[in-house]
Amino acid sequence: MSFTLAIVGRPNVGKSTLFNRLVGKKIALVDDQPGVTRDLREGQGRIGDISFTVIDTAGLEDATDESLQGRMRKLTERAVEMADVCLFMIDARVGVTPTDEVLAEILRKKSARVLVAANKSEGRAADAGVIEAWNLGLGEPLRLSAEHGEGMSELYSMLMPIS
Ligand code: GDP
Ligand code: MG
Repeated sequence: MSFTLAIVGRPNVGKSTLFNRLVGKKIALVDDQPGVTRDLREGQGRIGDISFTVIDTAGLEDATDESLQGRMRKLTERAVEMADVCLFMIDARVGVTPTDEVLAEILRKKSARVLVAANKSEGRAADAGVIEAWNLGLGEPLRLSAEHGEGMSELYSMLMPIS
């Protein structure tokens, strides 16, 4: 049985970097709902022997400050509805921001199954942010570096029971 993983989080935390690492080059556009078109990318992800559908919430990078919150909320809710499990990503070098808190609240309200990933965790600069991620109240943060491919075996062990 396969499952669907949605990567959610505010812009610039590294969602697409992880998506590309999991999926490789085969990317499809999904969701023809007005306003969401082009904003969710879907592909077939793989870690080791686990294969799954992965959704990237894109389309936020070009939003203006005032449109961002609304778009992010809508996209995140849509992704949660499509997914069996969400990987909620923060930037460990920045720590937990007010926008991260807003998204965490949406995930809690939706009763989504959530894994918290503290990305950009290569090196010591991320230590404080990884610890801060515990405060989201969504479980133990996964220490990840999407760019450098660190934390992938830990991600594997979190996804394996779902697969
Ligand atoms: P998205 O907006 O959440 O999709 O973020 P992107 O995947 O576009 O990444 C935003 C920026 O963060 C890019 O410049 C990436 O190269 C960088 N980035 C992504 N993952 C990492 C990481 O693990 N470590 C560091 N240092 N930078 C990263
Ligand atoms: Mg992106």
